[in-house]
Amino acid sequence: MTNETRDVIIIGAGAAGLAAAAALGHMGHSVWVLEARDRIGGRIWTRAAPGLRAPVELGAEFIHGDSPETREWLHNVGGTAIDTAGEHWSVVGGRLQQRTESLLAQVRAVLDAGDVLSRPDTTLESFLAGDGGRDLSEEARSMARAFVSGFDAADPERVSLHSIAQEWSTGGMLDSSQSRPSGGYGTVLLALRGALDPAHVHLQLQTLVTEVRWGDRSVEVTGRRLGQPFRAAARKAIVTVPIGVLKLPAQAEGAIRFTPPLAAKQAALDQLLAGPVLKVMLHFRRPFWETQDGGRYGDAAFFHAPGNVFPTFWTTLPVRTSLLNAWVGGPSAARLSELSDEEIARHALDCAAAVLSRPKGELELEGAYVHNWNRDPLARGAYSYVTAGGGRARETLAAPLDGALFFAGEATDTTGDATTVTGALRSGVRAALEVSRHLEGQG
Ligand SMILES: Cc1cc2nc3c(=O)[nH]c(=O)nc-3n(C[C@H](O)[C@H](O)[C@H](O)COP(=O)(O)OP(=O)(O)OC[C@H]3O[C@@H](n4cnc5c(N)ncnc54)[C@H](O)[C@@H]3O)c2cc1C
Repeated sequence: MTNETRDVIIIGAGAAGLAAAAALGHMGHSVWVLEARDRIGGRIWTRAAPGLRAPVELGAEFIHGDSPETREWLHNVGGTAIDTAGEHWSVVGGRLQQRTESLLAQVRAVLDAGDVLSRPDTTLESFLAGDGGRDLSEEARSMARAFVSGFDAADPERVSLHSIAQEWSTGGMLDSSQSRPSGGYGTVLLALRGALDPAHVHLQLQTLVTEVRWGDRSVEVTGRRLGQPFRAAARKAIVTVPIGVLKLPAQAEGAIRFTPPLAAKQAALDQLLAGPVLKVMLHFRRPFWETQDGGRYGDAAFFHAPGNVFPTFWTTLPVRTSLLNAWVGGPSAARLSELSDEEIARHALDCAAAVLSRPKGELELEGAYVHNWNRDPLARGAYSYVTAGGGRARETLAAPLDGALFFAGEATDTTGDATTVTGALRSGVRAALEVSRHLEGQG
């Protein structure tokens, strides 16, 4: 127990919480960061595997687009962003072929022609099954569903068509570059941790927040630290826990009970969902695909196998390693998440063998790394998506309550980078500025 009152309590030490803490500390505010895990980073979790030249990223791996924020943090600790490179191969008619034509371009053209953003929102599936779908080939419709499940971790029967049309519009995230932080996202965490001014910021791990009592003058947080009751008070609090945790009913295990309840947020919470993803990193003795079939796949970055349990695989190019990442998102990932980690890894290995037409026994697997974020009680999903009609949900979720409670985290980003580390970092800085304005009486 402690009676000390700080300016701000931040719940969660993921990208958003750390970015907020760094900014507030820099502005001279006293900050207490409370994190339930025994590590910082949340859905960023970089591990090193002996014998591998690339990090094992259990969570975030790519920098989508320019992301000046991420690049700046990397730069601060001498890191860089490494552009991805390589070819895309797809299983077509049972064989791997290099694909160049973009089915996505077809879908984009139909979305544009249908002017969907000026019509009432609906789900992607309703659009494909209705007028919009008539102008698309069956292959293009399947690709649209697969892409929304895989990339957005969303259920095509629930996801907002407006959100997808905005994301796919020319100049959006899909047209931008992809890179990876050198040394993995752990490098970004190193930079964020290093930016926490010890004179102002106190970071406390292994502290599970279970209740937040808030009013216009102060916030009191209670929970458990190393099995003991814990209490802390501050003038303001920033809540950065994932959407899957925030959505839990107050009585559910792992829920944070807010007193008074977050009534103003309920509609937004109903309109946002936590998308499921499963990622398995298969570490082989050697990168067998590089030499297979006369070296045809030597420069493969991605293997696509629509309809497979794991429909997407990628290598670590331009860094050559013997790591192959298996990925599935959306409703299939939700179903698979019910299995044990071992069973999930076995499915990934089976799929890798099938996609590359190799007997499983020949592949010489050294290890498989998987973290089931969908069943992780502190994540409860991979990243957020908006359901039909929820166009303003992120904005509503982000809005402060009574100048006391503030909200950050990828799900609250309204700059077009929700779901990503960039969005999380940006939301943390936005919330820190909001808090600072209120503390200084301008809010
Ligand atoms: C498998 C996977 C792959 C991804 N790939 C990419 C990618 O390639 N590129 C990309 O940009 N993004 C990717 N993402 C998304 C990215 O990881 C997230 O958007 C980002 O890390 C979210 O940061 P955050 O701070 O909003 O939330 P989090 O990182 O989840 O931080 C919230 C913190 O709150 C803590 N917490 C929860 N409940 C409590 C409680 N009751 N008390 C105290 N603390 C609590 C959690 O432990 C966590 O540390 C991926 C995510 C996953 C799961």
